[in-house]
Amino acid sequence: SLALFFQARRRQRLAAQERFEPRPIELRSDEILKGVTGLIGNTPLIRINSLSDALGVEILGKAEFLNPGGSVKDRVALRMIDDAEMAGLLHPHTGSRIFEGTVGSTGISIATIARARGYDTTIIMPDDVAEEKVKALHALGADVERVRPASIVDKKQYVNVARQRALDFGKHFASDRPHLIQAPSSMVVSTDGDEENTDDLMKKPRGFFADQFENRSNHDAHYDGTGPEIWRQTNGSVDAFVSGAGTGGTVAGVGRFLKSMNEDIIVAISDPEGSGLYNKIKHGVMFDLKESEGTKRRHQVDTVVEGIGNNRITDNISLALPIIDDAFRITDAEAVAMSRYLVQHDGLFLGSSSACNLFACIKLARQMDWKEGKTIVTILCDSGSRHYSKFWNDEYLEKAGIPIDPELVTKWLS
Ligand code: PMP
Repeated sequence: SLALFFQARRRQRLAAQERFEPRPIELRSDEILKGVTGLIGNTPLIRINSLSDALGVEILGKAEFLNPGGSVKDRVALRMIDDAEMAGLLHPHTGSRIFEGTVGSTGISIATIARARGYDTTIIMPDDVAEEKVKALHALGADVERVRPASIVDKKQYVNVARQRALDFGKHFASDRPHLIQAPSSMVVSTDGDEENTDDLMKKPRGFFADQFENRSNHDAHYDGTGPEIWRQTNGSVDAFVSGAGTGGTVAGVGRFLKSMNEDIIVAISDPEGSGLYNKIKHGVMFDLKESEGTKRRHQVDTVVEGIGNNRITDNISLALPIIDDAFRITDAEAVAMSRYLVQHDGLFLGSSSACNLFACIKLARQMDWKEGKTIVTILCDSGSRHYSKFWNDEYLEKAGIPIDPELVTKWLS
């Protein structure tokens, strides 16, 4: 019987050897990268095996959670800071400070890059976002101010507070040029005055409001980076691109780039509960007045999904509107179900917006009745580790009345 045992083990080993495919050495970069910003972007595209096999449609995810700051927002933060430096709005090691209103990811990205470039950071965020994001910001040395969730027309809303803090900081040091303290999208650097004067001014600490919602650098990061990367990684064979929209930068930049290469590519958004974008795309208005919830949630996207959805048309969303073909509403329960499904079947531990995106990919494939030969690309914005206290907290979900039911996914796949 010992002989039989060894025989069986040998068979097992041979079978494993047959399964084993040596991985080719394909480095993300052959060069020595210069510091942490060298790690940003050029992310791999991965096939979501379980969904692709079940649908017969290739579902590919851009692995943005591999960025050093942990999310797709690294690209945006880097571009906003680069553009601000090029516009002469920020000078490293001058005691300048970057201000931003964010639900977390962008703040973490800004704080990371700011440290590498010699800036301080103040992040204003709503007080209901996952606690681990605040911990990460503190670890990175950012000053964090948390405010009550409020409507954008309210002066105490997080974006408005961030703008005000930047203005106050800037006025303190450069009161003669308050117009310099703005996002590069909306400003032209003043060239009046003599050189010496300007040089002196540049050395002064400056407050810079990054303004991701309205800053065109956000769109540009994706138009020049994420979009072309996807095009190259798929050899241009993309049938659809699916993305959530928070600021709208991703869908605007990637969507506009892909359409410029092939206008037949479908661009669709995945929209969480409480967001008005779905209604805007489907019916032309943000709020369905027949939905009683429409008015209740009019100004705040009240959902367990963080980072996507919006109830106003930001500059970056308005860039995207002409090229968005379709929208899919994803419920909190669906997003939760997808996240659990992906861990179980693919070993992929993803954040809430990634889960929404992948659910929207299924709904799109089913709606189009796509079979073999089609490819849908989406964004895997961040990892589940940013979401332990809410989206990945079963107790929290139970209290919020959100079921954890993988059936919500499997019924779409059968
Ligand atoms: N996912 C996460 C985790 C985010 O933080 C954000 C940005 N708010 C998004 C998705 C949405 O991207 P965008 O702002 O480009 O619309």
